[in-house]
Amino acid sequence: MGDERVKNEALEILGLFQLLPRLVVFDLDYTLWPFYCECRSKRDMPKLYPQAKGILHALKDKGVNLAIASRSPTPDIANTFLDKLGIKSMFVSQEIFSSWSHKTDHFQRINRRTRIPYNEMLFFDDEGRNIDAVSKMGVTSIFVGNGVNLGALRQGLSEFSQNHSPTDGKKQRQKSSKKSSSSETEDE
Ligand SMILES: [Mg+2]
Repeated sequence: MGDERVKNEALEILGLFQLLPRLVVFDLDYTLWPFYCECRSKRDMPKLYPQAKGILHALKDKGVNLAIASRSPTPDIANTFLDKLGIKSMFVSQEIFSSWSHKTDHFQRINRRTRIPYNEMLFFDDEGRNIDAVSKMGVTSIFVGNGVNLGALRQGLSEFSQNHSPTDGKKQRQKSSKKSSSSETEDE
C-alpha cells in the first residue's frame, strides 16, 4: 500500500472518532522504523515501517501534534535518519536520549515543552516496560508488536476515546483506588 493510500485510510479511521488526542508520541526503534539505530551508520538510508509515513501525515492533516520519545543512546544517528526521511520538522518535541527511567522523564519534558496534559496524549512503543510506566502517568499507551500500522492507530484512538468517555471504568477505578489508599493511610 502506498503512502497516499495509507494516509487516506488513516484519515478515514481518524474520522470515526469524535475526540482525538492533542498529541501523539512515537518511539523510534521498532515502532517507527524496524531496527535499532545505534546498530546503523549515519551513511545508511533508513526506511520506516511501511504504514508509518501515511499515518504521520494523516495525523498532521487532522491538526494532531506529533512528538518523539526515544531512549536511543545515539541521538545523532536518530536525528540524521529523521532528516533523511524528511519527517524531522513534523515533530513539535523530539526527546531522544538514553535514560534509566522508562520514558517518564521524556514525557515530563514533552509536557513542559508543549503544555499538553498527559491525558490528552497517545503513545506508541514496542516495549512493555515503557508502556507500563507511561500509562501510569495518564497517557493512553499502546504496545506495538510489529511497528506502527493502521491497526495500532485504530486501537490507540479507540482506547483513547474509551479513557475519555464519561462512563469510563478505568478512570473511576483509578479514582477509587486513590481514595481507598488514602483512607487506608488515615486508618493507620
Ligand atoms: Mg523501541
